Amino acid sequence: MDNVLGLGIESTAHTFSCAVIEKNKKDGRILSDIRHIYRPADGQGIHPREASRHHVEHSSTVLSECIREAGITIHDIDIVSYAAGPGLGPCLRIGAIVARSLSSFYNIPIYPVNHAIGHIELGKLLTGATNPMVLLVSGGHTMLLAFLNYQWRVFGETLDITLGQLLDQFGRSMGFASPCGQNIEELARTSSNYVPLPYSVKGNDVSFSGLLSATKSVAARSKADACYSLQETAFAMTSEVVERALSFTQKRELMIVGGVAANRRLSEMLRDVCRRHGSKFFAVPLQYAGDCGSQICWTGLLESQVKPGVSLENTFVTQSWRLDSVRIDY
Ligand code: AMP
Ligand code: MG
Repeated sequence: MDNVLGLGIESTAHTFSCAVIEKNKKDGRILSDIRHIYRPADGQGIHPREASRHHVEHSSTVLSECIREAGITIHDIDIVSYAAGPGLGPCLRIGAIVARSLSSFYNIPIYPVNHAIGHIELGKLLTGATNPMVLLVSGGHTMLLAFLNYQWRVFGETLDITLGQLLDQFGRSMGFASPCGQNIEELARTSSNYVPLPYSVKGNDVSFSGLLSATKSVAARSKADACYSLQETAFAMTSEVVERALSFTQKRELMIVGGVAANRRLSEMLRDVCRRHGSKFFAVPLQYAGDCGSQICWTGLLESQVKPGVSLENTFVTQSWRLDSVRIDY
């Protein structure tokens, strides 16, 4: 098949999203990407049951808007893919149910997709990076990865909370609405007063939980100084492990993906690291940094080049499905 039309469904955490992509050989064109995001009350974290209820309530309108905006009908869809993990069980099940229903009713091949790999594959499509070292920084991940022998290999990761959780938990403690990364970035820009904070790099892994507690006590004196110092410390730790991995692997490309990739200060620091190592820096476009159906759709389309869809009995969701356990043959 030359032109393949895919529908992708994302529902791992706060976002319910559907997207349609047209794949033509190696190229993909996003025809639509519709999202609805669950927003907990200010200062509150994501509640899995409430988030899944949100997904149930919005799934049919997001799906129909996605099909309408793509200018197609459901009968034009060649494959359907859904995010099977990692993520929150109650949320994952909603996307899986929508995908299974479409697959069985319309007889469309179905593909379970690893959400983290979705971030990476869409990043490669949109940036043009071919063989990058990948920094995946989101609500659910803080991982440094390189591809070797059919698998993404982990060069470093967080030992406790993710970079996204660090920002969100700190932001919520100040009463911000979650996700808080953007608010923190804006407030950080209003200060240049660095307050020393715990800097914890172990081997090529990072640990953020001590930093979180210490930053909360700085916030009691100045929220802006706390945001600025938090970003400087956490991003410097991240840049250090990226720099060591680049030096070790001699990769000529670095690509940053995941919601935290939206942060300009982090990109600025990583761009400096790349300059020192003669590597090219790629950041996923802002609009596609956070969770979205396009990530899942594009990865499903890549899978469909080398594999038939799975049978309905073999569709699954797995809350803790690590991306370095997935074999990639495309
Ligand atoms: P994801 O799980 O990929 O949807 O990413 C969500 C995470 O990205 C949340 O933790 C947000 O706080 C974070 N995020 C979004 N925008 C920014 C930003 N401008 N700076 C830092 N973090 C951000
Ligand atoms: Mg994500």
